[in-house]
Amino acid sequence: MNHTIQLGFFYNSEFEYIKCKCDLVAPYQEVWREGTLDPGRRFFGCSQFKDPSKRCNFFVWADPPYPERAREVIQSLKQKLRAKNEELERAMAELSFVEKKMLVLNEECVSLRCKNEEAEAVGKSYAEAEAMLQFENKSYCWKKLLVIVFIAWIIFSLFK
Ligand SMILES: [Zn+2]
Repeated sequence: MNHTIQLGFFYNSEFEYIKCKCDLVAPYQEVWREGTLDPGRRFFGCSQFKDPSKRCNFFVWADPPYPERAREVIQSLKQKLRAKNEELERAMAELSFVEKKMLVLNEECVSLRCKNEEAEAVGKSYAEAEAMLQFENKSYCWKKLLVIVFIAWIIFSLFK
């Protein structure tokens, strides 16, 4: 196909037949650079355009320029997308803050659980000590009663 066509707009079925000045198939690409009024507009360009020694500046649009209304709609959609992205970034920052806070809280929880276990162990040994004390107290009462009965028996025996 004649590469001198500058305003010819082609259809998908013909894309593979476009060749550049290097006699190579010129792949079609899309314009996505920042600030373009027609994002996604397709064009054919030399596949070796990055090589300055080739000096091939072949470039031809595949799509017509977008209508003014389409450009306005795209701009407004881009603005909405930017706002949403900013919202998303803020939400991500908040999420990472909450995640960090959660890590700290988790560590605190672990240390509190350890302390709780220690306190439970102390409480258990305290209860055991108390039970032992109660048992000893009971046996002391019995011993006291026996001593009193014994003394009463001695006195009773003396005054008989
Ligand atoms: Zn070329």
